[in-house]
Amino acid sequence: MLRLAELAPGARTVYATGHGTVTVRKYGAVTGREFIRAAVRAQDGRSRAALVTLRPAAYPYAEAWLDGLARCAPATADHRDPSAAPGSVRLLAKMTRTHANGVPRQSDGSVGWSVPGASARAWPNGRLTVSSAEGVELSARLEGSEWDSWAVAAAADVALRILCAPEARHITRTSEPSGWYRPLDRGHVGGGRERKGNQSYDGSSTARCSCGWRGAYQSRDAALAMAAEHRRKSVES
Ligand SMILES: [Zn+2]
Repeated sequence: MLRLAELAPGARTVYATGHGTVTVRKYGAVTGREFIRAAVRAQDGRSRAALVTLRPAAYPYAEAWLDGLARCAPATADHRDPSAAPGSVRLLAKMTRTHANGVPRQSDGSVGWSVPGASARAWPNGRLTVSSAEGVELSARLEGSEWDSWAVAAAADVALRILCAPEARHITRTSEPSGWYRPLDRGHVGGGRERKGNQSYDGSSTARCSCGWRGAYQSRDAALAMAAEHRRKSVES
């Protein structure tokens, strides 16, 4: 157990996650001004892969956040900025709505998005912040070029899952069917269910949920129906 509230100012402790140890230190002697700095190591256990700042409101979520970050941390960490691109992070995150409106970027290069109850923002320099509607903030400075867009998206998903409203744990989306295509363009002949000239039709659609559930269906209607069924079952259970 990580008892951050009981930690004395200036004191350090080591917290063992399932993916390596995290060094934790409390700063600020004045009550209400205190905060925690936590260093999450890369999988090799040597260099720091993330520096986390936690305010008291975030203490109850600290273990889940540090565990998740340690799980997402790359194998090694150099001293460069992450190679992740904020726009790609937004596209790869599972905890997100559809991307129909594109990915708006701020002038500082950051990209933000939200799910019910929580919002995330990723910066090009590795800063990642997830805030709840109640004002709880889980943030980290991700360090090292091995943080690619997939790894940063996974970290954002962890924090969004911790802080989101219950209904956001199951946000589904379905992929647009690729439609008419030339079989030769895909390196094979035939395979489509309908023909038009030398083209085939691919109406298949994949349904995905923010919880990780996914399924492939013959049509988008089927994918939408199964996604709705998944949400209904998830709410009941
Ligand atoms: Zn789900």
